[in-house]
Amino acid sequence: MKDLKDLVRPNVWNMKPYSSARDEFQGNASVFLDANENPFNRPYNRYPDPMQWELKKKIAEIKGVNRESIFLGNGSDEPIDLIIRAFCEPSIDSIVSIDPSYGMYEVAANVNNVEFRKVKLDDKFDLDTDNLLKAANDWVKVIFLCSPNNPTGNNLSRDRLYKVLETFQGIVVIDEAYVDFSIEPSFLAELEKFPNLIVLQTMSKAWGAAGIRLGMAFASPEIIAILNKIKYPYNVNLLTQERALYVLENQERMENQLRSILSERIRLLAALPELNCVLKVYPTDANFILVEVTNADTIYKNLVKYGIIVRNRTNVTMCNGCLRITVGKPGENDALLDALKKM
Ligand code: PMP
Repeated sequence: MKDLKDLVRPNVWNMKPYSSARDEFQGNASVFLDANENPFNRPYNRYPDPMQWELKKKIAEIKGVNRESIFLGNGSDEPIDLIIRAFCEPSIDSIVSIDPSYGMYEVAANVNNVEFRKVKLDDKFDLDTDNLLKAANDWVKVIFLCSPNNPTGNNLSRDRLYKVLETFQGIVVIDEAYVDFSIEPSFLAELEKFPNLIVLQTMSKAWGAAGIRLGMAFASPEIIAILNKIKYPYNVNLLTQERALYVLENQERMENQLRSILSERIRLLAALPELNCVLKVYPTDANFILVEVTNADTIYKNLVKYGIIVRNRTNVTMCNGCLRITVGKPGENDALLDALKKM
């Protein structure tokens, strides 16, 4: 990896972050007259902890990492944007990612006026490592990868991910939004070995808390310090911090839900290929299944008539004719299969 100083945008490296009086507060004050809050309506009258230390303590315990290696944001979409803003000089630097993959990497690159280069996956939806590394020249500061990948559902091969981490001199982001549904272990255990690695995870999928918007980025304390420097001071609100702690303290509930989703995934993987309108069902390590059907546009519209929404991916690279279907509750999956049977 290059020196972090040579990867971070010079203006970001040199700037001073916003600081509040409470950043220096040592914990023994009882009268808070520093932040122009209303003194009534406890506890929501107060600004939340800008560094979310209590929540990070719980996440650190569950994930086996240090608190200083955790950044929390408004969904993982926030760290995706902040990573681009921290490392990529608009109109000069570039990003490389895979195609097809999660659409927000490209949207965030476009918002930031940073060139976005897409390298097509191979015919098994796996990394084309040679072409990826060829595209990652000196102007490329960040590579965004996603494993298990959305919308294809598969894991990228581990040895190819290692090759990218070992070879590329810039930042490698591995988005693990769906890792809890996968048999492959997380790359969190590799953080110490690869100082250029950022792992993204989220409370929106296995933890069942998409509504509270809590995304997690894990990286070296040096990289996390850069993201902290440029975030909004109170980027994770108090309601989210409280609810996230509550959800994380109920790990057994999450594990029970995970078991249900995984067994329903097995059931759908067996039932879908039996349907007349289904041409191909792709293997999956996520909580969704990519399914090629006889006519994606028509079947999508017909499912809407039954009150069932899936994701039509027919216009996405390599996903011609495909719908992406999230694994639901048993009754919801029954409704889907019953509706598809009639098409
Ligand atoms: N990464 C991937 C691969 C996703 O599919 C999604 C959501 N669909 C996200 C990130 C965003 O997650 P969050 O809700 O944490 O913003």
